[in-house]
Amino acid sequence: MGQGLSCTETNEHPLFSAAQKGEIESVEAMVDDEPSVVDRTTGRGRLSALHVAAANGQIQVLSMLLDRSVNPDVLNRHKQSPLMLAAMYGKTSCVERLIQAGANILMFDSLHGRTCLHYAALYGHPDCLQAILSAAHSSPVANSWGFARFVNIRDKSGASPLHLAARQAQPECVHVLLDSGALACASTGGQGFPGITPLHLAARSGSLDCVRELLAWGADRHQRDSSGRIPYLVALKHKHGACAALLNPSAPGPLIWPSPLKFITELNPEAKALLERALMEANKDREKAILKETVYSLPSPLHSEAGADDDIEASDVELCCICFDQICTIEVQTCGHQMCANCTLALCCHNKPNPTTPAPKAPVCPFCRSKITELVVAEVKTKNNVQLESSPSKPRTSRKSQSTSEGSSSFKGLSALGSFGKLGGRSSGKFSVECDDEVDKP
Ligand SMILES: [Zn+2]
Ligand SMILES: [Zn+2]
Repeated sequence: MGQGLSCTETNEHPLFSAAQKGEIESVEAMVDDEPSVVDRTTGRGRLSALHVAAANGQIQVLSMLLDRSVNPDVLNRHKQSPLMLAAMYGKTSCVERLIQAGANILMFDSLHGRTCLHYAALYGHPDCLQAILSAAHSSPVANSWGFARFVNIRDKSGASPLHLAARQAQPECVHVLLDSGALACASTGGQGFPGITPLHLAARSGSLDCVRELLAWGADRHQRDSSGRIPYLVALKHKHGACAALLNPSAPGPLIWPSPLKFITELNPEAKALLERALMEANKDREKAILKETVYSLPSPLHSEAGADDDIEASDVELCCICFDQICTIEVQTCGHQMCANCTLALCCHNKPNPTTPAPKAPVCPFCRSKITELVVAEVKTKNNVQLESSPSKPRTSRKSQSTSEGSSSFKGLSALGSFGKLGGRSSGKFSVECDDEVDKP
């Protein structure tokens, strides 16, 4: 995959091997000598020099050709554009440069009717996915197609980029796509017909990371494919025991990322990272409990840390007033009350994914019942006012974190606690959100 496209056939024009090797001077000399040489294509695949440069990540050659007004959307034998090849080979800078030169992100090849987004997902290049998706926000595609429709674009067999990423066990791509609005429950059948979902494909590939990610974004364990099988049966058939254990409909359901909530979808990146980590931790705790029942053991980076941080948290640090267990990392705006990330999630998450029911009601601050307009990162203070770094590599887990994984039910009787949450200082990670009663539809 990483090698790029080879075109060292003996009878090809020297332009192609120069483009492949990034020999900018000789490519430039050939183009100066004979401008029409840029229209040449290779014999078999009908690749242009632009295709060859894009697939091999030769950004200088690519840039030079584009500067000389070479058509960025020139097609090869399979109607693949240079952008598709750059996405396929993970050449992010070439993807960006082609888009900048006006390459169309909404073209379909003649092999499987796939777009550049499909190629980036299929070959596992999250950076290319990001580059294409951020272009889709501002390009004419967003106006003509709508961004959400583009993210869920289907190939000839009905597969979205998310399907392909799940099939190829590419958890990072799965994450980027879900985060951009890819539908976790999309079926290749479409329009209500049974087909395969990304969860079926993740079950088949045996990728625990993909399964975990899809479940956390609300993928339905009960959805059936055209043969009537749920993902659990697919995992069993392919002997992926750990995946099967999580996909078993009788196993406890995971915590679901509360994406329909306005203040969650508009979270600033820092607060979002904290909450996502807390969500994955809570689900991993849950996984441990599930997998303990099976013969399969889950390799867990968190395991060795049990108890390591406990004495610090217990003595010096101001703990979350809901669970008395973790440090307050999230501050509710506009009231300023603070909670830990786990409790914030438990407040916002709902256990039963059901895409057909309307978006859940926006939760209120558990301390003062005022409306939550945004969540920001709280300043972490110890009693000695020492700043604690919340290191991503050392997530704070603890024995009691299970209590938050029960979802919003753990907040019953919370108001009885009264408002003894502390008012924290205004944090720097603030962003503004208009006050709005309406919750966005998913
Ligand atoms: Zn808490
Ligand atoms: Zn409050």
